[in-house]
Amino acid sequence: MMRMTVLASGSKGNSTVIASSRTRVLVDAGLSCRELLRRMALAGEDPSALDAILITHEHIDHVAGLAVLARKLRIPVFFTEPTHRAWVRMLTPRTTMSYARWLDHLALEKQTREQEKEARAAAIALETANQLAGVENEPTLRSDDPNAVLELPDEAEPCDAESAETLPVAAKPDPAFLPVVEYFRAGTSFSIGDIGITPFTIPHDAADPCGFVFEAEGVRMALATDLGYMPPNVKQAIARSDVLLLESNHDLEMLRDGPYPWSVKQRVLSRVGHLSNSATAEYLSRDYDGGAAFIVLGHLSESNNVPELARLSAEQAIGDRMTLLGNKVLLASQTVPLEPICL
Ligand SMILES: [Zn+2]
Ligand SMILES: [Zn+2]
Repeated sequence: MMRMTVLASGSKGNSTVIASSRTRVLVDAGLSCRELLRRMALAGEDPSALDAILITHEHIDHVAGLAVLARKLRIPVFFTEPTHRAWVRMLTPRTTMSYARWLDHLALEKQTREQEKEARAAAIALETANQLAGVENEPTLRSDDPNAVLELPDEAEPCDAESAETLPVAAKPDPAFLPVVEYFRAGTSFSIGDIGITPFTIPHDAADPCGFVFEAEGVRMALATDLGYMPPNVKQAIARSDVLLLESNHDLEMLRDGPYPWSVKQRVLSRVGHLSNSATAEYLSRDYDGGAAFIVLGHLSESNNVPELARLSAEQAIGDRMTLLGNKVLLASQTVPLEPICL
């Protein structure tokens, strides 16, 4: 069994739960921590059962609640290294950090992570040796550990950025502190629990943006939003999916005649912007293999699209295949979680 629950999709926040019977991951955390927890409760997803958070790219609609949620749940966050760096840079006020200081910060961060890795490896080795020798484990003291914030009781961990201000200065966490950071690379598969994950590069104006394909128990789910066009590598990566979460951002005419300033229109329309209804339709009619049970249209613009227009465009592109093999078209919403899709 595999499950996809889209908690939110659109320029005001993106987040999706992908679950097998044993493993649960959250893709992006683009709403406040509080709102993410509220949506998970609404959708019947248990936040304490999440194993990790995966980040597609550092735009605010994908990371708004990330740090607070990861610290609250004490789970690892998976990024590509450039995305992690861009995210840390985003949270670090530029006025107080020169380029030289930023380089120092990066070096220190790397050193800290390596030390943590070594410490973890040493702890595991010690534990294994002790287990073999039948020795009781001593609790590890971490008083000089930068991760000491982990020792805060739950109630002291704020659930949104504002309440961090109420903490005593000494306990105020680094805004970019995360319990564990793991790096992946586009094109290189990895696993979290029993879910196999293949990240792939998408054309978008971020440091190192990725889409994902998730596989467990013979089911394949793909997620590709925030892309300016459909390059061959994306078409190849998302082929043979059982569930396809695909961007259908804007109607071209609505965008052209809509309220956005010219520069923003150019950005959205560019090769590193967002996929239009017609670009998605073109993919669905020309390249899509027709094998998915569900096609979820996501990241719909609230100003430059109408859900029924996006649906009509996709359904027309899928044409006859809708009735033959499933291909049910669903619309992901910005404001409410989508009914969980279980296969
Ligand atoms: Zn986005
Ligand atoms: Zn984006």
